[in-house]
Amino acid sequence: MATPISLDFLTSTLREIHHLRDAAAVLSWDQETYMPQGGGAIRAEQLATLQTLAHNQFVSPEVESLLGTFLDIETGTILPTHLASLDESSQALLRETWRDFSRAKKLPSTFVNELERECSLAQQVWAEARKTNDFQRFLPNLERMVSLKRKEAEYLGYTDSPYNALLDTYEPGSTVAQLRPLFAELRTHLIRLLDQIRNSPVQPNTTLLTQSFDTTKQVEFGRQVLKQMGYDFQRGRLDLSAHPFTTSFHPTDSRVTTRVFEKDLPSCLFSCIHEGGHALYEQGLPAQHYGTALGEAISLGIHESQSRLWENAVGRSRAFWQYWYPKLQDTFPAQLGAVPADEFYVAINRVTPSFIRVEADELTYNLHIMVRFEIELDVIEGQVYVDDLPELWNAKMEEYFGITPTSDAEGVLQDVHWSFGAFGYFPTYTLGNLYAAMLFHQAKTDIPDLTKHIGEGNFLPLKTWLNDRVHRWGRHYSANDLIQRVTGQTLTSAPFIQDLEEKFGHLYQFPTT
Ligand code: ZN
Repeated sequence: MATPISLDFLTSTLREIHHLRDAAAVLSWDQETYMPQGGGAIRAEQLATLQTLAHNQFVSPEVESLLGTFLDIETGTILPTHLASLDESSQALLRETWRDFSRAKKLPSTFVNELERECSLAQQVWAEARKTNDFQRFLPNLERMVSLKRKEAEYLGYTDSPYNALLDTYEPGSTVAQLRPLFAELRTHLIRLLDQIRNSPVQPNTTLLTQSFDTTKQVEFGRQVLKQMGYDFQRGRLDLSAHPFTTSFHPTDSRVTTRVFEKDLPSCLFSCIHEGGHALYEQGLPAQHYGTALGEAISLGIHESQSRLWENAVGRSRAFWQYWYPKLQDTFPAQLGAVPADEFYVAINRVTPSFIRVEADELTYNLHIMVRFEIELDVIEGQVYVDDLPELWNAKMEEYFGITPTSDAEGVLQDVHWSFGAFGYFPTYTLGNLYAAMLFHQAKTDIPDLTKHIGEGNFLPLKTWLNDRVHRWGRHYSANDLIQRVTGQTLTSAPFIQDLEEKFGHLYQFPTT
């Protein structure tokens, strides 16, 4: 009789594969922070080798046979003979591992190689095209990328729309059928609010934020805020990079980066808070499940909910600045000593239509996402031609924002995402905002005096609540299940819209509905 195989063999194999991925992540972190420029070419090769090794080991016959011990490898159904002996957590582990495995298996390696090659090529061409404002130059690459992504959707399989297969990569379980009505409703409210803001007699003065602020002091202030949020510097660190990001190799080593500009106070400050939200999630994941799906974040949308909750619901609130503003004034007495807290609060919450997504405010940011979602959905579904994108883009900007980009560089060419094939990625940003509002509303119900705590600089109750309700579960639940479990509701934009109406209605002095 064969010796029964325990789940431990599977988890230790998965853990070893994860070591390769973590090694690649360390190299990527280094590439963005300290690597000398000359190291770029060889670093790309080193990363490719590690990623290929990890991929090959994951789709290996060994993993297949370990998984096959417990479930039907074609359908993912756990074998009835094992069902009774596997606890809920083991079943979740098998379910999520099979999901990753079957997706990885569906893509032929020749296709993956072709896609990777096109990605690295298209990114370079995109960077040049944006610099020279030349969409035609990028067009052939974008056309190839779209056809590759449509092919990928065919390999992965889908119901209703090929876009669903791509969306599922970033936000498992999310569908076009779910997003369309959700976003349509949100869009109506956003456009109405933006209109009211535009017509408001209040127009905040933001020049106080663009004075000269010592960059070392800015980073130091960001570090203090991170510490107070509960980010553990014994298990993390803060560095500088061109684009702020969070990376994690284990809950005991989750790192953040920020960027700093002398004449842009909000940039460093809010990227620290934003990345801090991501990093608290990573530091709060269950270490006992490290290396397996259960030790990972649920989805990009849930990850973004953590950063947005801290950045916007907390970091742009009056209560937060009640505690922090005197400290900021002490740090920059010449610049802010004479500026009242209210004026500062209004300035960091200014809403204005803009061309560039990454610089957009809390409200219009989501309209930027709508523009991209609607366009990329049509492209992937074959409803529009790729060479019509610049015009389509500009028309949507005019429709939603009332402004038209004067160049493709500040229009259709601005984002890097499509050049590396990230179709289906953008919606997760807005989902993050919606999840964040739902979670924060629930936190306010569950934690007595939450606003008072925040006003006193006590972030521990909120951090502990997030650890308990969201972080420690890893991928045990799907995004929809987790949100339902924590808030008792399915995904809705209502709390988010309510927050925007209250905040900006008050700030811009228009009657709330
Ligand atoms: Zn983020």
